[in-house]
Amino acid sequence: MRFDNSYARLPERFYARQHPTPVAVPGLVAVNAALAAEMGLDPAELSRPEWVEVFAGNRIPKGADPLAQAYAGHQFGGWVPQLGDGRAILLGEILGPDGRRWDIQLKGAGRTPFSRMGDGRAWLGPVLREYLASEAMAALGVPTTRALAAVTTGEPVWREEGRLPGAVLCRVASSHIRVGTFQYFAARGDTEALRLLTDMAIARHHPGAEGALGLLQAAVAAQARLVAQWMALGFIHGVMNTDNAHVGGLTIDYGPCAFMDVFHPDRVFSSIDSYGRYAWSNQPQIAVWNMAQLASCLLPLIDPDETRAVALATEAVHAFAGIYQAEWLARFGAKIGLAAARAEDEDLIGGLLDLMAAEEADFTRAFRGLAEGTARDEFVAGAAFDAWAGGWQARLAQEPGGMEGAEARMAAANPAVIPRNHRVQEAITAAVAGDFAPFHRLHAALADPFGAPPDSPFRTAPLADQVVRRTFCG
Ligand code: AMP
Ligand code: MG
Ligand code: MG
Repeated sequence: MRFDNSYARLPERFYARQHPTPVAVPGLVAVNAALAAEMGLDPAELSRPEWVEVFAGNRIPKGADPLAQAYAGHQFGGWVPQLGDGRAILLGEILGPDGRRWDIQLKGAGRTPFSRMGDGRAWLGPVLREYLASEAMAALGVPTTRALAAVTTGEPVWREEGRLPGAVLCRVASSHIRVGTFQYFAARGDTEALRLLTDMAIARHHPGAEGALGLLQAAVAAQARLVAQWMALGFIHGVMNTDNAHVGGLTIDYGPCAFMDVFHPDRVFSSIDSYGRYAWSNQPQIAVWNMAQLASCLLPLIDPDETRAVALATEAVHAFAGIYQAEWLARFGAKIGLAAARAEDEDLIGGLLDLMAAEEADFTRAFRGLAEGTARDEFVAGAAFDAWAGGWQARLAQEPGGMEGAEARMAAANPAVIPRNHRVQEAITAAVAGDFAPFHRLHAALADPFGAPPDSPFRTAPLADQVVRRTFCG
């Protein structure tokens, strides 16, 4: 790895220099060969003991400059002036063969000055969940942080459930700059830092954006498109705090996330989301709220005249609705086979979603079923589906290529395989018992979400006793 550590070159108030804490017995779980190749790295090399030691935090590679990033954030709407990487350490950044910059971060690498009461560690369950979910997202075409490798530590981690095996995830991303990073400096009145951060965020994520207003506009657009993609996959992020809102529009923090099985707009999985703040249907509004926080941080850089700055920032945040709506319509339109959905089609799409909620349809299976002619089976009352399908077929008749064209569009927009909660759970349970085969099988299936054959075991909905109702931050 050839490092070029731009974040470490920022002033010292952006981070705390911190080495990972070595672990007892590093054990390789996985190296992501496809991603390694994308990054210009040799997966065979990364599987060698020296690199397993790097992924465990026992060895610092040449050129790395390890640090924990400072950030703040609103957690469930409540302001926390200092959060920061409490268990993640940024080893440094490398440049890929295509010039792309990658943060190399170890999550679960030990305590940092930002750990507060935490142990700085992660256990195997959340590490595998993040590995599977983030790689599934990438295969589904959703912007996300990635998983380059996972290792076990040979050390126990203590959680509510008791003694659990420790693990470290090597997370890579085009940056880890969050709304909360801006908030950290805005709250301290540090305009100089905000300026540096703005320049870095533009360079890394939104080249072409001009100044703080340009960054805000680009971040709003990226978040609007991202959340529309989440919605179209039945994905519930679960912890959309501002410290988990990425300015480049990546999905970040897979703690208590879930892909819905049975559809309901109010679904919540996170064990700590008691009031459903981050329910599926609330996600767009929450993203707007998060963007409003970013906007308020950037005000001093947008215009020296505060009234004018507020007007410009407000307009930029309000642009979310239009961008989101257009993306939502295009995504859900494609899911029901439309080449170019129109505003009037919202009723048709909404009608299907209402029906799915009322008839307890599995989100992924129902949409995929539209492409494969099996959707009716996913509804308790088939007749209710038939009534909707009449209007749908009439609408499809107006589309280019007729039903065949529509089927191709639906097969490309509706995945057959998603990281189903019960499959992820099954992989974790087996891994804790020492068997990593289910994890690897699931990972392989998730790499081709649209191509799985109808009899793939990863397509089936959970049986009653397999249903996962709660997810945890880990
Ligand atoms: P999250 O809710 O995952 O976004 O995390 C919120 C904050 O808690 C971040 O500052 C994390 O670094 C910190 N944190 C989470 N788990 C731990 C842990 N086990 N040890 C130390 N800090 C943690
Ligand atoms: Mg987080
Ligand atoms: Mg987390």
